[in-house]
Amino acid sequence: MTKEAEAIVVRKTRTVVGDRPSHFHSDPDTNEKWQCNSPYCSAADMPHPDNGGPAPIVQGYEPWRR
Ligand SMILES: [Zn+2]
Repeated sequence: MTKEAEAIVVRKTRTVVGDRPSHFHSDPDTNEKWQCNSPYCSAADMPHPDNGGPAPIVQGYEPWRR
């Protein structure tokens, strides 16, 4: 795979929703960085949800508010 192809990996789970400021997580297994803007994250080292990590909670769609 070329570098360009790697840069446009399509994720199934969307981790940036809306215009909240985002932050980066790093996958402890692959060292891959991924962007997220959930206000509820507590760990920087976390696999992407597509790689077995927990799905970030989207502001406004908190499970406890539904
Ligand atoms: Zn996050």
